[in-house]
Amino acid sequence: MTTSIIVIGAGVVGASTALALQKDGHQVTLVDRDSPCSGASFGNAGAIVNGSCVPTAMPGTIFDVMSMLSQPLSPLSIKASYFPKILPWLMRFILQSRTRAVDDNSKHLHALSKTAVASWQKLTANSEISCLLRQTGWLKVYESDKSFDGTKKSRELVDKIGTPYEILNASQIHDLEPNLAPIFKRGFYQKDSLSIINPDRLVKGMVELFVAEGGTYKQFEVKTIKTTSDKVEISDHKNSLSADKIVIATGAWSRTLAKQLGDSIPLDTERGYHLMMPESTKKLLNRPVLNGENSFVLSPMETGLRMTSQVEFAGLKAKPNYKHIRNLLPAVKRMLPKVDTSEQSVWLGFRPSIPDSLPVIGFSTRSDRVLYAFGHHHLGMTLGAITGLTIADLVAKRQTAFSLTPYQANRF
Ligand SMILES: Cc1cc2nc3c(=O)[nH]c(=O)nc-3n(C[C@H](O)[C@H](O)[C@H](O)COP(=O)(O)OP(=O)(O)OC[C@H]3O[C@@H](n4cnc5c(N)ncnc54)[C@H](O)[C@@H]3O)c2cc1C
Repeated sequence: MTTSIIVIGAGVVGASTALALQKDGHQVTLVDRDSPCSGASFGNAGAIVNGSCVPTAMPGTIFDVMSMLSQPLSPLSIKASYFPKILPWLMRFILQSRTRAVDDNSKHLHALSKTAVASWQKLTANSEISCLLRQTGWLKVYESDKSFDGTKKSRELVDKIGTPYEILNASQIHDLEPNLAPIFKRGFYQKDSLSIINPDRLVKGMVELFVAEGGTYKQFEVKTIKTTSDKVEISDHKNSLSADKIVIATGAWSRTLAKQLGDSIPLDTERGYHLMMPESTKKLLNRPVLNGENSFVLSPMETGLRMTSQVEFAGLKAKPNYKHIRNLLPAVKRMLPKVDTSEQSVWLGFRPSIPDSLPVIGFSTRSDRVLYAFGHHHLGMTLGAITGLTIADLVAKRQTAFSLTPYQANRF
């Protein structure tokens, strides 16, 4: 049966959801307060990590957080004035670092990510945008045994789940990435992962495809949502639209919309930054590479080499602090001696994060006219396509590939 559906949010999750619903023959309207891909989906590292299963909260996380906060080039920072606001989130986060919770979160993350690549291939099949996805693999490199050994618990989790990977020595790293300085002793390589050479172009391309196939794009900021027995209405006090169902895919901004519908979700933002280097630098690497010592990723994008890094707790409104990312440039030069680190642009993005590292995917607690698709933290590019396809399965009342209980809004 054709259903009218409004998807709110035109980031990777909303665009994937709109396309997947449209492929099922529904009448879909995509709404964003801005142009497509103006949130976190714009400036990320572009890695699609198949089989990703390591949640952010891990055993011992509390000690790692305390030690990181005291380091000069720390990848983690908390704005002092935001500390009282983030404290309840951090308390929940620490509870998620207990072994039992970590095992559960890992299993549920893997249930989503194990088909990440296949889902992207399905969603982009026979379209021009599929050329933006490259089968490059995902590489992490470590200079010291100490930093490599620091990842032991994550590797144990990966072994337990069974995600394939290879441990590389210095010469194998050199074979994959000849321009890296010969300082890296150990590598962790997931061969079957993909990378996106331009996340902005991918998401905009998905929206263009959606519109070309008859979908509607509307630009306004959704302020209120009202459900009745036969429809759901969204409005910004000037515009209003109604449909049979809506999907909330507004990333880090989803908490207040879900609150209106009676769901209290512990969603906050882990802010992250990027810095673009000149276009000529993009040939220096073949794939996204994570520097294990300094926790930054260098990704070869079609517009130049992109450095992404940082987890900053400062909420959605504080001004960017680009010092965090600029301070890492000497470490970039040390890693990739031929690189021209002249800054082309800098960017701040808002990862939508929930303490258990699992998104909310499924119906709202009170109404089956409202569906949620948000909270994809560090993995929204990886999980965008599978989320969209899963929402389409739910709307069509098809059996989903895995149980959706762990991702429900009422789990908190
Ligand atoms: C530095 C950094 C590096 C990252 N690297 C990776 C990576 O390598 N791999 C990976 O898988 N993930 C990565 N991520 C995470 C990934 O980018 C996010 O998880 C993902 O982009 C979230 O997508 P989204 O569609 O949920 O949200 P967004 O892309 O933020 O989109 C939300 C949209 O909702 C709109 N909106 C908000 N409120 C309203 C409203 N009231 N009315 C109308 N519209 C509204 C916004 O304008 C926005 O367009 C990274 C993130 C960062 C910050």
